[in-house]
Amino acid sequence: MTPAPAASRMTIPKTLLRDFRKLLGEDSVLSEEADLLSYAFDSAVVGQSVPSVVLAPATEGLLGRTVKACYDAGLQITARGAGTNLSGAAVPGAGPSAVILTNRLNRILEVNEADLYAVVEPGVVTADFAKAMEAKGLFYPPDPGSQQVSTLGGNVALNAGGLRGLKYGVTKDYLMGVEFFDWGGELVKSGSRTVKWVTGYNLPGLMLASEGTLGIFSKLILKLVPPPKASVAMLASYPSVGAASQTVAAIIAAHVLPSTLEFLDRKCLQVVEANARIGLPTDAGAILLIETDGGHAEGVKEEAELVRSICLKNGAGSVRVAKDAAERDALWAARRNTLPSLARLRPTTVLEDATVPRSKVPEMVAAVERLAKEHGLEVGTFGHAGDGNLHPTILCDRRDREGFKKVEAMVDGIFTEALALGGTLSGEHGIGIAKAKWLSREENAATIGLSKAIRKALDPRQLFNPGKKVV
Ligand SMILES: Cc1cc2nc3c(=O)[nH]c(=O)nc-3n(C[C@H](O)[C@H](O)[C@H](O)COP(=O)(O)OP(=O)(O)OC[C@H]3O[C@@H](n4cnc5c(N)ncnc54)[C@H](O)[C@@H]3O)c2cc1C
Repeated sequence: MTPAPAASRMTIPKTLLRDFRKLLGEDSVLSEEADLLSYAFDSAVVGQSVPSVVLAPATEGLLGRTVKACYDAGLQITARGAGTNLSGAAVPGAGPSAVILTNRLNRILEVNEADLYAVVEPGVVTADFAKAMEAKGLFYPPDPGSQQVSTLGGNVALNAGGLRGLKYGVTKDYLMGVEFFDWGGELVKSGSRTVKWVTGYNLPGLMLASEGTLGIFSKLILKLVPPPKASVAMLASYPSVGAASQTVAAIIAAHVLPSTLEFLDRKCLQVVEANARIGLPTDAGAILLIETDGGHAEGVKEEAELVRSICLKNGAGSVRVAKDAAERDALWAARRNTLPSLARLRPTTVLEDATVPRSKVPEMVAAVERLAKEHGLEVGTFGHAGDGNLHPTILCDRRDREGFKKVEAMVDGIFTEALALGGTLSGEHGIGIAKAKWLSREENAATIGLSKAIRKALDPRQLFNPGKKVV
């Protein structure tokens, strides 16, 4: 968790750089210190390491040859989409290393409207893809808060979730197939364009959340679904975080499945309102942002009414139903703005994503409040409460070494509580560098041993994204 200073880069032979330039073209190879620095870190607070070279292949064939050339030369390889991950999963290795950018591999190759799937390259930006599908009357639900810049390859490599996870699931529910280059530069293809598929091992499942440690994706087959025809969005405000989190458990226990069920505490509300000015109730202890959707307007309205009554029964002071699409969009834009708004307050934002069974959300919210008080830290909590996935966000300054020890202690406390409640270290942000040291608290020795054996089999020289996931 302690941020390492940017390690100075390991240089690689000039002849190798020449070979990369010959292969990819002058513009696709970065080797100047000033350029390389931008790729030394990602959106996490942990780890910085300047790569030896940055490579940007523009075609699938060139991607394969790049992977092989790097592997043969003994370079550590880190694939990079938009670098928005929050676990240090795209920080380059500390040895001679290459970052392979996927931003030029950004084509939607096929959209099958009859069979409801699309085939894409890994560098397609998530929101661009969703918009392109929407234009065809189709729906790709996974919508991480970073969707305007994150890539589908990065989403698959971390099994990204989003605001619609409660009803529509996360990236894993949409991955039908994957093609990736292995350590020998061979193209492995697994999965299918069919809804059902049981041929071979479930390699798409293995590659999900693999954080670039097993191979480099070149194509993804993604499932599409018909879009909902009607939706109702609402904002329920509560005097306390306890009542709001109790409502989350009550909605799930009533077997209602809103498409979105998001939680924001007072700190988050206040910073978002200061930026967005959309009339959020800044005196509330917490709010829930909820949306129900479906194929029939009447059914959706009925479900919304049921949710509204559960909110009121569980202590909501008021429930405001969005009167039109503009108000609904403003609510969701505000929610997406939460992390950027919090990040403006202090130099460092430590964002956690410990996740608990949904019935345990009230206990987890209470634990975060208690830990923040105990350590005297400024914390805003928001998150996908309907998924049991909270983002306690510690606002701090990592240059203050003594102060940062409290942050580390609080993060440790968050994981201890989450695991004690039957939860997990990460719901969506990944293990990366940030959480690798806690892995043995959740997984037993046999599980970690098997994972290491898989990694060794798929990456005999341990060059794919070292230091992440399983170490
Ligand atoms: C403001 C903000 C909001 C966020 N909201 C959410 C959210 O709601 N839900 C959520 O799940 N996450 C969220 N995140 C985290 C992040 O956006 C996601 O983890 C996203 O999936 C990362 O995509 P990326 O393209 O930036 O990947 P990167 O950060 O570039 O890479 C992530 C990992 O994927 C690997 N990778 C990338 N491309 C490939 C490839 N072609 N082959 C193999 N491995 C590859 C990398 O090596 C790395 O290990 C948020 C982040 C920010 C900054």
